[in-house]
Amino acid sequence: MTEKPSIRELGEFGLIRHLTGDLKMVQPETRLGVGDDAAVCEYGNSKVLITTDLLTEGVHFDLIYTPLKHLGYKAVAVNLSDICAMNGTPKQITIAIAISAKFTTEMMDELYAGIKLACEKYQVDLIGGDTSSSMTGMTLAVTAIGTAQEDTITYRNGALENDIICVSGDLGAAYMGLLLLEREKRVLRDNQITQPDFEGNEYLLERFLKPEPRKDIVDILKEKNVIPTSMIDISDGLSSEILHLCQQSNKGAKIYEEKIPIDLVTQQLAEKMNIIPTTAALNGGEDYELLFTIRPSDYEKIKGESKITAIGHITPASAGCYLITTGDSAIELKAQGWNPLA
Ligand code: ADP
Ligand code: MG
Repeated sequence: MTEKPSIRELGEFGLIRHLTGDLKMVQPETRLGVGDDAAVCEYGNSKVLITTDLLTEGVHFDLIYTPLKHLGYKAVAVNLSDICAMNGTPKQITIAIAISAKFTTEMMDELYAGIKLACEKYQVDLIGGDTSSSMTGMTLAVTAIGTAQEDTITYRNGALENDIICVSGDLGAAYMGLLLLEREKRVLRDNQITQPDFEGNEYLLERFLKPEPRKDIVDILKEKNVIPTSMIDISDGLSSEILHLCQQSNKGAKIYEEKIPIDLVTQQLAEKMNIIPTTAALNGGEDYELLFTIRPSDYEKIKGESKITAIGHITPASAGCYLITTGDSAIELKAQGWNPLA
């Protein structure tokens, strides 16, 4: 009997492939199973999107610096982001939660205040879930349901040669926010008297603690009559997500360092911490911005839009995936994004 590869060797995506590679869909309504930001089912003429994300205490969040209200908001936001990444509209969520004995009613009320705030802001209904106990801290799983139109639904695999690669917002800020929180946690642990020093960096904290799904970008694309050829949300860093789009579209990519949108605050803190800002954008993660490709003929339509930046273009698969640095050298993109199983 040949020994199975360890989970460590497989990694997150290898494990998912290992577990789901032999699944056979038997329901005619199942249009797309594993492999994109959300699954797609079709009932009558409606395309329904379904996606689940799991947040585990100690892995995805640290309650020492994560207010429960923010955690609740974020748990919903990151799920809605996956619906947006299909060019869809979020409609409902369910929430499954396991808690240990340390949690009080007041704490759960705070968590749910954040959940309800996100539901209200994005006009989604919380329609069910499950509640259980846990031996070690909190685990939170959110499932989001959304809809998409037949002619505008966007997958990861549709990028075409010469398409323009675009991102929404700016990148790397959430990662710098996390590093800042980790730094202040160490300072507090070593010296009880000090107050945490976040001045001037509030934007970074907000980006990490309270990300927003880019429903506004889905609306802008619709308004401007642009249907992306492919799309994914940036949860693991730009590099890893470009590779997903290119692998699934069987294409290559060239992106330009000077074009990657990075906020000034992100840049300043990165430099202070001896981190190259581009590295924070490429390999940080948790930005929850949208990465998408559009036909060159659509570029004019979004050119003046301040929330969207063109960062490069799609090439043949044989050309590989590269970052062209400001110094004009070509660096191959690697998936160094957060691997929770590492
Ligand atoms: P995202 O980062 O957009 O949330 P993931 O990288 O978590 O996506 O997942 C990639 C794909 O694998 C998705 O289609 C997801 O539904 C599927 N998937 C992840 N974990 C499992 C699992 N344990 N069983 C079945 N499918 C899974
Ligand atoms: Mg996603």
